[in-house]
Amino acid sequence: MVVGQSGLGKSTLVNTLFKSQVSRRSTGWSRDEKIPKTVEIKSVSHVIEEGGVKMKLTVIDTPGFGDQINNENCWEPISKYINEQYEKFLKEEVNIARKKRIPDTRIHCCLYFISPTGHSLRQLDTEFMKHLSRVVNIIPIIAKSDTLTLDEKTEFKQRVRKELEACGIECYPQKEFDEDMEDKSDNDKIREAMPFAVVGSDKEYQANGKRILGRKTAWGVVEVENPNHCEFSLLRDFMIRSHLQDLKEVTHNIHYETYRAKRLNDNGG
Ligand code: GDP
Ligand code: MG
Repeated sequence: MVVGQSGLGKSTLVNTLFKSQVSRRSTGWSRDEKIPKTVEIKSVSHVIEEGGVKMKLTVIDTPGFGDQINNENCWEPISKYINEQYEKFLKEEVNIARKKRIPDTRIHCCLYFISPTGHSLRQLDTEFMKHLSRVVNIIPIIAKSDTLTLDEKTEFKQRVRKELEACGIECYPQKEFDEDMEDKSDNDKIREAMPFAVVGSDKEYQANGKRILGRKTAWGVVEVENPNHCEFSLLRDFMIRSHLQDLKEVTHNIHYETYRAKRLNDNGG
């Protein structure tokens, strides 16, 4: 799921993900559509091929928040949606004639878009992440990072990490779920690299005879999948390759389990 303030490039990044290398073989993409403003929670699915295995990847695009004068409780529609998916799963699970494979619409990963201000997180951001991190795996990312210089980016990333820690916000991969020393050292590296600074685009250009996804500016093309230009491919590989299974496990064993225990408790009076 992608969430964050309006205009930070959420819908664009969804397109980037489906258009980038991971899904080159997926079909049914209509190209060069202009992205309209997102006004409702909307899901987009594509079959992608990963290491010879086909899988369905569904991304939930959400309307940006923060446009209102009063942004109080603006995470509520999002957390309501997340909980509704847990509820659906629970209903299927307690059903006597339950299906062999329960259809899983639960959100395994929530990308939180941070505005590339170079200053600090807004109160809205910390409130939002604080609430959501209790119900879902949050991965914060710096949106539109092509607007930051290298120094600004490094500094901003560092500041965001500090602020998240100061607010007690536990992002994915959560320290408490590291399984062993090796897991810990792998995840420490990721935690030190976060939040990933991304750039999104669904426009293709030619570079050295290859087609690349990029953003053309007066001073050159920002290549979305070039790790020297931004951390989009790092994020993608992390989410869809190395940690896909773990994201699903944490969702099932921790977030869903918390929901389930609470619901069954409530019912039992
Ligand atoms: P959303 O409201 O978060 O869904 O944002 P959109 O995806 O609709 O994008 C809003 C505007 O930002 C569009 O004009 C995009 O072309 C532009 N945009 C999207 N991603 C990036 C990016 O990584 N860098 C820059 N500079 N602009 C971007
Ligand atoms: Mg949008």
